[in-house]
Amino acid sequence: MNADSSSFSHPDYDVAVIGGGPGGAALATFLARNGHHCIIFEKSKFPRYHIGESLIPHTHGIFERLGLLPQLRASAFPVKHSVRFVSHNGKESVPFYFSETIPGERSRTWQVERSQFDRLMLDHARARGVEVHEQTSISEVRFEGERAVGVEIVSNNGARSFVPAKVVVDASGRACVIGRQLGLLSPLPELRKASAWGYFQGGKRLPGIDAGETTMFLIPGGGWFWYIPLPDDIVSVGIVADPEYVFSQSDEMEAAFTREVALCAPLADRLSAARRVGPVRGLRHLAYLNRQTCGDGWVMIGDARAFLDPIYSSGLYLALGSAELAAECIDEGLKCGDVSASRIGRFEPALWKGVDVVRRLIHAFYDPAFSFPKFAERFPEHRAALIDCLVGDVIKDMSKFTAALAQMTLPPPPLGSNLPKLFTPALASGVAQL
Ligand SMILES: Cc1cc2nc3c(=O)[nH]c(=O)nc-3n(C[C@H](O)[C@H](O)[C@H](O)COP(=O)(O)OP(=O)(O)OC[C@H]3O[C@@H](n4cnc5c(N)ncnc54)[C@H](O)[C@@H]3O)c2cc1C
Repeated sequence: MNADSSSFSHPDYDVAVIGGGPGGAALATFLARNGHHCIIFEKSKFPRYHIGESLIPHTHGIFERLGLLPQLRASAFPVKHSVRFVSHNGKESVPFYFSETIPGERSRTWQVERSQFDRLMLDHARARGVEVHEQTSISEVRFEGERAVGVEIVSNNGARSFVPAKVVVDASGRACVIGRQLGLLSPLPELRKASAWGYFQGGKRLPGIDAGETTMFLIPGGGWFWYIPLPDDIVSVGIVADPEYVFSQSDEMEAAFTREVALCAPLADRLSAARRVGPVRGLRHLAYLNRQTCGDGWVMIGDARAFLDPIYSSGLYLALGSAELAAECIDEGLKCGDVSASRIGRFEPALWKGVDVVRRLIHAFYDPAFSFPKFAERFPEHRAALIDCLVGDVIKDMSKFTAALAQMTLPPPPLGSNLPKLFTPALASGVAQL
């Protein structure tokens, strides 16, 4: 449905969501289930392309609570049981099977083609009573004083109107609508990585339950490739490395990507009989966060809050997890008529704490002195916690694990310490507890 001012079914929405990606769709589904009137504005027409295809198992409970497991089980998405690291000289780690720490079906997840997965989630939200307007962009959030009171929309025929809502949720992904509007967006200088990626048909698949694994091919200088099997014999392959490496001045991105694939012998071997399909895409700056992530009448979820690095495939989990946590707090706030920042942003400290565990592990990964096999060998008692991180089970006390990590790799500076402005109080208290 496209939006013009006459096409809204309610005069007064409880929640207006900017963006119908997985985060926005999940949040609205949870809130609609509790009887709240939710409206999603999505600027694209689904299905649309999106990067970020590898799920982690801790999403299982969220899919269960959303009622999406039957559709996922019936899908053609390859089942992912594990992650494996391959060094540039071809030495392979033992696969980290999620079943080492998680019993049953919860130990597996899926590699998803995002156009199909995101459409599935948005259709599901619609089916659960969420009003969805595609091809409708939010130009800005309207504030009265510090409080968000609704959104300014632009439909694809150029019509503009204002939609009031008690709560505005920014789920706009890297567009970071509120972050840009309020000047809150900050690059993370400590994690300077770029990425380029493409799709291949006919790449080799491993036998048995390893067929759907994510394989990480490490390259000299701290970069790496992902290799993610998708439906229809397609594999997603991407490089993450320093921007100068991915986008060298003398090279076009496509030429650099093709050269780097050829230089990574174990990856080139997997792709020896494959042909690239579609364009090479890229991003020069991956990591950022917002210095404030909630306020009176508004919250940010998913990539609209922050994005660190794709190494642990945590993006979708954090989008879905933040959506569920935010939905719980918004539900409580709406029920008691208090949508102040302290009420609807109550989830923030716990979430930032989990994000910080992931951040520490990201720094460890890029430290040449650190390696997962060496860590698992030196601290066998923490191998389970390492797998907890790989599955996304990080929103809990991980202090013993991070203390062990600190014995092998220096912890990064405290989150946000090198950013120019102070965090929101909720975030500051979350960081203080780390
Ligand atoms: C190189 C790379 C590799 C990645 N690999 C993985 C991976 O393997 N696994 C993983 O879990 N994650 C991965 N990610 C991260 C993952 O893509 C994101 O974390 C995830 O898509 C976030 O979901 P979201 O719902 O927050 O945002 P999105 O999925 O980006 O959805 C946001 C939606 O908002 C819409 N929108 C934007 N602006 C507006 C506006 N003004 N008005 C209305 N609508 C708007 C957009 O059209 C979009 O549909 C990767 C990211 C990168 C950059």
